[in-house]
Amino acid sequence: MHSFHYQDGSLHCEGVDLQSLADQHGTPLYVYSQATILDHFRRLDSAMSELDHLICYATKANSNLAVLNLLAKEGAGFDIVSGGELQRVERAGGDPGKCTFAGVGKTRAEIELALRKGIYCFNAESEAEVAFIDQVAGELGVKAPVALRVNPNVDAHTHKYISTGKSENKFGIDFETIREAYARAAALPNVTVRGLQMHIGSQLTSSGPFIEAVEKVAPLVAHLKETYGIEFFSIGGGIGIVYQDSLASGNTGWWDAKEDAEKPLTIEEYAARLVPLLKPLGLRILLEPGRYMVGNAGVMLTRVLYEKKGSVKTFKIVDAGMNDLIRPALYQGHHDIAPLREPGADGATEMVDVVGPVCESGDFFAQNREIPATAEGDCLALLSSGAYGFVMASNYNSRALPAEILVDGEKAHVIRKRQTFEDLIAGEEIPG
Ligand SMILES: *Cc1c(COP(=O)(O)O)cnc(C)c1O
Repeated sequence: MHSFHYQDGSLHCEGVDLQSLADQHGTPLYVYSQATILDHFRRLDSAMSELDHLICYATKANSNLAVLNLLAKEGAGFDIVSGGELQRVERAGGDPGKCTFAGVGKTRAEIELALRKGIYCFNAESEAEVAFIDQVAGELGVKAPVALRVNPNVDAHTHKYISTGKSENKFGIDFETIREAYARAAALPNVTVRGLQMHIGSQLTSSGPFIEAVEKVAPLVAHLKETYGIEFFSIGGGIGIVYQDSLASGNTGWWDAKEDAEKPLTIEEYAARLVPLLKPLGLRILLEPGRYMVGNAGVMLTRVLYEKKGSVKTFKIVDAGMNDLIRPALYQGHHDIAPLREPGADGATEMVDVVGPVCESGDFFAQNREIPATAEGDCLALLSSGAYGFVMASNYNSRALPAEILVDGEKAHVIRKRQTFEDLIAGEEIPG
């Protein structure tokens, strides 16, 4: 579910009018729905209830302290990829003992921090990393819990930049050699082999690749359980969301006219296909969803600054840029664009490019897109921007980071203030 819908002619997040948020807090502005995040967590949690399981939310998808706090209160664990994320989780009230630490390039400082905080497991991506974790753990006089990430060499059928489970990707240890890697890891003095992990990619829109990967890896899991007594198998994240025609049904007006809506991979289907494969393994199952949890829970609001009619195109120049939301530029990501004032069912539309102010031709949110007619000063929502949105924002072009709002029913909380110019240059110095 998600909680964005037109009500009394204007787009709302739960009970809050988005236009009023844009007017009050300025644009660009990220707005998240608390109810949607909680609904997604609870639905996945209950779909997995037949299994001994732990949901380790992939922190990198949206790491605002308020979002992490919401999930921590639900009992979530966290999948982290840096020492900074571990500190965020802790600051937000999360339990380091429920954290898994992923990523191919963990540094000494990060490993030491994670060992001191007592994380649940390191998910190691190379033998060199395991050897280094062993060394650091030995220096601290502790044992490091470790799982290896297997690269099962299956095709996730997703964008190449977010495909991670093929042999040519940098992630994980080859399926063909992982048994020997486990044998060597298990022989190390300061490492405890605790599990097996995999993550084949992001934004998977069918259950097929997940099933293929689990089926391929299941005999390995059985072997590791038998030989080393591993206690968990993490199947990673990657559950895809709907980016096209994603507004809740039941709206009036132009959204209803669309027929070829994207088909979501539902949690019910995901669970119905995977739980029967996972249950016989007799292990604790970890899940690391990021996008699924927060993607459809967020929008980015932006205001139309100018219209520019070129000889072949009409450009709507908006006040948000690729530095605020980079998915279109980086992954050719699609975001539906909805005006905050609801257009009539028979309202005019126009074919436009929606572009930002950043000095890059890649700085666009839509090209040759038919959207309801807008005037200068109108506000638009870029839908499904809750995951890999704000977290990837940068200060490129010396643009301040946007503010973030968390909506809970009728209430809107500022969960991150808009960056000021002084914040932006903090730490810089002119020599002399
Ligand atoms: C990014 C990542 C995830 C989350 O991926 P989503 O597609 O957002 O669910 C999970 N596990 C690992 C190891 C990751 O790198």
